[in-house]
Amino acid sequence: MNCPWCKGQIEDKEIQDPSKSHGICFDCAQKLLWRKAQKLNDFVNKFDSPVILIEESGRVAGANSLALEMLGKTSESIFYQNGGDVFECKWAQLPEGCGNTIHCKSCTIRNTVMHTLSTGESCHNVSAYPDLHYLTGTDKVEFIISTILVNDFVVLHIENP
Ligand SMILES: [Zn+2]
Repeated sequence: MNCPWCKGQIEDKEIQDPSKSHGICFDCAQKLLWRKAQKLNDFVNKFDSPVILIEESGRVAGANSLALEMLGKTSESIFYQNGGDVFECKWAQLPEGCGNTIHCKSCTIRNTVMHTLSTGESCHNVSAYPDLHYLTGTDKVEFIISTILVNDFVVLHIENP
């Protein structure tokens, strides 16, 4: 089977969920996702605190300039990364990776994002204690987060950076 966009061959292993990949190859699916996320740039930059966009499989698709500043990263470098890798959560550095370690079950950020992804319900002012040793040098930092679903993306809003 060939990708209708770039005419390249699609490997069977790339087509995990045709309804989500739109029948196009992985590279083209990423380009589509990038364009969709870029369309929300004006929206996310209206917030006066950091905002991160999460796509339907739970990967980061974009962020506003305040979030990029907080993280010290570019939108290219965070694109399609796991949330834990973007935040440099210490558990995400384990071999199992973000979302798969025993610590991830109690990750409030992950659970809140996944709740909004699966139900469409917004969450407001949830206290989260991510293990952001990279940003803070300490384990216990309280973030107040909110999540809303906009155009298939979860908008993760950090109220108190
Ligand atoms: Zn393609």
